[in-house]
Amino acid sequence: MRYGALEAGGTKMIVAIGDENGKILERASFPTLTPAETMPKMIDFFKDKEIVSLGIACFGPIDLNKESKTYGYITSTPKLDWKNYDIVGEFKRALNVPVGFDTDVNGSLLGEITWGCAQNKTDAIYLTIGTGIGGGVMTNGKLLHGMLHPEMGHIKLALEEGDSYKGKCPYHGTCFEGLAAGPAIEERWGKKAVELADNKEVWELESAYIAQALSSYILTLSPQIIILGGGVMHQMQLFPLIRKKVIEQLNGYINTDEIKNIDEYIVPASLNDDQGIMGAVKLAIDAA
Ligand code: ADP
Ligand code: ZN
Repeated sequence: MRYGALEAGGTKMIVAIGDENGKILERASFPTLTPAETMPKMIDFFKDKEIVSLGIACFGPIDLNKESKTYGYITSTPKLDWKNYDIVGEFKRALNVPVGFDTDVNGSLLGEITWGCAQNKTDAIYLTIGTGIGGGVMTNGKLLHGMLHPEMGHIKLALEEGDSYKGKCPYHGTCFEGLAAGPAIEERWGKKAVELADNKEVWELESAYIAQALSSYILTLSPQIIILGGGVMHQMQLFPLIRKKVIEQLNGYINTDEIKNIDEYIVPASLNDDQGIMGAVKLAIDAA
């Protein structure tokens, strides 16, 4: 069987054809311009490929409530061309196949749960730290949507001692994303994040904010594993720092085997940056 997959991001759209094992058979990528420019290219890609269904893992906020009149829409996104855009409806009409739909981060989590490092877990978190910060959550074996979907990058954090950065989030200033996403690192230190690789101070501070957020997620959601992806997490030196600081912050209050084996609890994404598109394949499989 051939399944269509779309990882819809604010800068690029990755389209692919995958099989029932999550194997990517073919792929292409288009810059995210306006819907009028970008949608026909994606529809052309899928048109003659005999896909049985399509899965979309999408940047947000999006409407995931099947009872809602705007189910399948991208809603209040700052990408204004895509605001209130019926992305699911447009693909359904053009391709005439069932369409599965979820957030980009739930998609990545689903990829990891199905084919990656979170197989056999029922409660897991996938966090991306890149241009923004977002989290996907599985709880009791189901992807969490709730009222909207989690927006875990926008929780308020306590400023670390000596930090006077005003934060980059237009809504909250010094929320997690405002303090620790790629653009915040670059504004704070005046250099591309990748060029700061050797500056210890940068990653000490970055890991402190990530650890604050993870400690809150551990205490509120009780995940069995936390997977960290996105461009910033390519700085692998962050992992030992984050693990150490999470242990310090939990301060002995949580004593599970998972926390004792923290190297296997807070882990990098395992699918070579294909977790998102593979998750979209799984969304398609589930929709078919
Ligand atoms: P997006 O979030 O737009 O999908 P990424 O996850 O690649 O894309 O995130 C891009 C951000 O990650 C940029 O702000 C960039 O500075 C940062 N970034 C990308 N690669 C690296 C790297 N190797 N080391 C540190 N930061 C990186
Ligand atoms: Zn915010």
